[in-house]
Amino acid sequence: MSTWRFTLIRPDSGSNIEPLMVLRALLVIALLGPTSASAQTRSADAPAALVERLEAAVAAGKPEAILALGVTPTVPGLQLFASFATPAPTRVIIKERDRADLEPSGERLLLEVFSEYGGESTITTWRADLAAGPDAATNPRIAEMEQLTIVSGLYKLAVSPSKQFTVRNLTLRGTDLTLEVPSGTAFVAETSEGPTAVVLLGRGRMTFAPSDPAERTQIRIFAGETELASDFDAAFIRVRPSEFGDLFPSASLSPRAVSSGDLRRASEIFEDYIGQTFNIDLRDLSRERWSLIPSSGDLVAEVRTRRLGSLTYARSIKDAEDISLFDRKRRRNIAVYASRQKLSSRGRFYGEDELVEYDALDHDVDVAFSPDRSWVEGESTLKVRVRSVALSSMTLRLAESLTVRSVTTAEFGRLLYLRVIGQNSMIVNFPTALRRNTEIALRISYGGRLQAQQIDREGIALDQQSNTQQEDLYIPVEPQFVYSNRNYWYPQNTVTDYATSRLRISVPADLDVVASGTEVGPPVTAPGAVAPGQRPRKQFVFQADRPLRYLSCVISRFTRIATRDVTIAAAGTGAPPPPVQLSVQANPRQASRGRSMIERSASILEFYGSLIGEAPYPSFTLALTENDLPGGHSPAYFAILNQPLPLSPVLWRNDPVAFEGYGPYFLAHEVAHQWWGQGVGWKNYHEQWLSEGFAQYFAALYAARDRGDDVFRGMLRQMRRWAIDQSDQGPVYLGYRLGHIKGEGRVFRALVYNKGAMILHMLRRLVGDEKFFEGLRQFYGTWKFRKAGTDDFRRAMEKASGLDLTTFFEGWIYGSAIPELAFTSTIGQGEAQVRFEHRRTVSPTPLTVSILYTDGSSEDVLVVVSDQVLERTLPLKGPVRSIEANRDYGSLAEIVK
Ligand SMILES: [Zn+2]
Repeated sequence: MSTWRFTLIRPDSGSNIEPLMVLRALLVIALLGPTSASAQTRSADAPAALVERLEAAVAAGKPEAILALGVTPTVPGLQLFASFATPAPTRVIIKERDRADLEPSGERLLLEVFSEYGGESTITTWRADLAAGPDAATNPRIAEMEQLTIVSGLYKLAVSPSKQFTVRNLTLRGTDLTLEVPSGTAFVAETSEGPTAVVLLGRGRMTFAPSDPAERTQIRIFAGETELASDFDAAFIRVRPSEFGDLFPSASLSPRAVSSGDLRRASEIFEDYIGQTFNIDLRDLSRERWSLIPSSGDLVAEVRTRRLGSLTYARSIKDAEDISLFDRKRRRNIAVYASRQKLSSRGRFYGEDELVEYDALDHDVDVAFSPDRSWVEGESTLKVRVRSVALSSMTLRLAESLTVRSVTTAEFGRLLYLRVIGQNSMIVNFPTALRRNTEIALRISYGGRLQAQQIDREGIALDQQSNTQQEDLYIPVEPQFVYSNRNYWYPQNTVTDYATSRLRISVPADLDVVASGTEVGPPVTAPGAVAPGQRPRKQFVFQADRPLRYLSCVISRFTRIATRDVTIAAAGTGAPPPPVQLSVQANPRQASRGRSMIERSASILEFYGSLIGEAPYPSFTLALTENDLPGGHSPAYFAILNQPLPLSPVLWRNDPVAFEGYGPYFLAHEVAHQWWGQGVGWKNYHEQWLSEGFAQYFAALYAARDRGDDVFRGMLRQMRRWAIDQSDQGPVYLGYRLGHIKGEGRVFRALVYNKGAMILHMLRRLVGDEKFFEGLRQFYGTWKFRKAGTDDFRRAMEKASGLDLTTFFEGWIYGSAIPELAFTSTIGQGEAQVRFEHRRTVSPTPLTVSILYTDGSSEDVLVVVSDQVLERTLPLKGPVRSIEANRDYGSLAEIVK
C-alpha cells in the first residue's frame, strides 16, 4: 500500500517563458482520474452488481455481509475492508475505476472508496481480484483484496457560527513573515483536534522580509522596497490544529458574543479562500468541499493588503525551497527560496533529481501524430531503474489530455494506474514494492488530443507591436508542429532525465518529421491499413544511443537539402573523435537558404568541437522553418531554426538577442546547445545560465572567429549594455524568475543569456585562455549527460586555474550589483600610472586598459581589479594620445572618471 504523496507542481525546469508554477498552497489536490471508459460502459453486469452489494454492506454497517462476498471468509484483505463497516459510516460511495482480465481467468477491479464519518472522511483505492469459476459470470466472489492508496484526514470545514474572539495585540509569525493585529476580531473553523483555519478581521500590518538578498531584489520589484510592508484589513490563515496555540496565544484571543455582521463578513472571506488551499476535489465521490490539514510546520496566510492586493504566503517544510510569496491575481511567484533552517539542513545548493523515485534509462516510443486534428496515439516502453529504497507506486508525467489505455510489465502483466487531476501526471501501482536498483520496463498505451507547443523557448521579444500596415502583404508561414519538453507527449519522469531512445513516428504522408536521434533509413509507408477517408501515412525512425534530457520532434513539410560528415578535431593528442553526421532540412520556401546553411552549420560544429574536443551527439539535423519571429529550439540531435519571412508583421529588433550585425547568431546559439543545455544539463531552474549563457558565449566566440574582433566587440557591447541595464532586476541565479513578476522576457534574455555570456568572458580573462578552455573541457567531460550546477562549474574552473573563484561567482552569479570603477590615469616620462577604485560592490573585475599612441598604434593591457583599489605602472613605447579603460567592452563594470 502506498500513501498518496501530493506532489506539487514545480517550476518546469524545461521551459522558461511561461513557467506555470502553481504554488503548493494553491494546490487543489491531486485526485483520481476520471472513471475509465471501460468501466463506464459496463452497466449492471455481475462485477458491477458485486460492487453494489459491497457498498450496501458497508453502508448498513454489516461486516459479516462483506466477508460473505469472499470465496472464503479469510480472503486476504477482505477483513481490512470489512472494518469500514464498524462503525457504520455516515455515508459510503464505492466506484469502479478500472477493470482488467486476470490470467488465466477472473477479473481485477480498481475500486475507489469514499467513507464519511461525521465531518471527516477517507478515500482509499483497492485492488479487488474476482475469482473465476463455474458461476463467476453470474455470481463472482472476491478472491483477494489489497488497499493501494489512502487519503485520510479530510474535513468538511466551515466557520464556527457560535464562536467569535476579540483580538488584542496579536503578532503572528511565520518564517520572515509578521502579521500584527493590534485590535480586531477572529473566527475559526475547527476539526476534532482544534482550529485549522482562522479568519482575522481588523486593521493589521503585514511585513515580509526575506533574508536572502536575491529575494529582496524581487520584493523591491514587486513592492518598491526590499522589505514588503502593507496594511491589511483581513487575513485567512491555515495551520495544523496542534500548532494553533503557538501561533495564536490565548492572551491575544478572548471569546466574545458573536456579532452576526462580523460572522457574515468572516464567512465571505472564508468562502473566498478555503477552496484555494489544502483543498481536494472529489469529483463524482462528493460534491461537498473537503479540506486537508496542513502538515507539521506548514503555514499558509492569505492576506488582503490595501496596497498590493491579495498575497499568499506559504511555508512548506518538505520543499527544497520552503518559503514562498505568491500574487494570486497575476499568478506570479514573487519570492521562492530556502529558509535559513532549510539551508542548514540541505546545504546551499540542491538538485531537482535528489528526491526522484527512479531513473529513466530508455524510451521506446511508437507514436502516430495527426496534427490537423491535434491528435496523438502512442505506445511507449519506458525502462527505469528504481532509486527509492522500496517503490510501490511510481509517478510519471504525461499530458493530462491524453487518455491512458493500459500499463503493463512483463513481470506483473496489467497494472493499475491513476490519473491525477489538474496535473500532467499519472501514478502506476505495483503489486509488490520494487527494491532499489530494480530495473523494470513499463509499456504504456495512450492517446488523445494534444496541441503542438509554441517554440518560444528561444523566442525573441513578443511585444505585441503588430505592424498592421503590412498586414495585407503578409505571407502565411508554413505550419509546423512541435512536440517537445513542454507538452508531455510521451510518458516520462517528473523531472528531465537523461535516457536513450528509439522513436517511431508516423504522420500523414504529405508531412515530414525531424526528431531526437539519428534517422534510421528513409521514411517508409506506415504499417497498417489506411482507413477509408484517411490519408496514407509515413513512418520515420530515430535512434538515440546517447542519453538525452527529453524527446522532441517537429512535424512540417521538409525538403532534404544535404547531408555531410563534419570532422571534429581531437583535444590534445588523443585519437580523433568520430565525425558528426550533419543534415539540413528546410520548409520548401527555405530550400535555397537551407543550401547556404550546410557549410555554415558544419563550420560552427567544427569550431565548437575543436574547443571541447568532441561533440556530444553523433548526428545533428538542422530543421529550417518559417516563423513570424526569429529564434529556435535545440533539443539533443537537432535544432529548429525559425526564419522570419520578409514583411513579417512582428517587430522584434529591440531585444537583447537581436544581433543585427551578425546574421548567423541564432544558428550559432542553437548549435551550441548541443553541448550546453543538452550534452551538459542543469540541475534546477537556478542554473539555466549554464545552458543559455554558455550557448550565448559560444555564439559570440564563433562570431569572433567568423568575422573578427569588430563583430565580437559589437556583440559584447550589446550584451554588456543589456546586462548592465537590467542587472537591478536580480542575480543571474534567479533563472526564469528574472522578469517573471513583470512578465518581461527581455529581462530574462538580458541577464541569463547576455550577462551569463559576459561573465564567462570575464572569467576567461581572469584565468587566461588556456586554463579557461581546459576548465570548460573538464567541466564538460565530468558533467556530460548529467545535470550540473554553478558550484560544479566553479570547482572545474578552480581545478584548471588553481585560483579560488569564490568571490568571482558570489559577485557575478549569485549577486546582482554591477561594480562601478573610478578610473584615473597619469601620463609621465616613459610610463603611465593607472588607478581603479571600486565605488560600489567589490567583485573581481578583469578589464582592458588601452594605451593609444599618437602614431595611431595601440597597446592593450589586462588588469584585474579584485580589491578596493588597484594601481599599476605601465611602461610606454612613445608619445600617448590617451589611455582608455574597457574600450573592448569586455568588462561588465561601469567605468567612471
Ligand atoms: Zn538558448
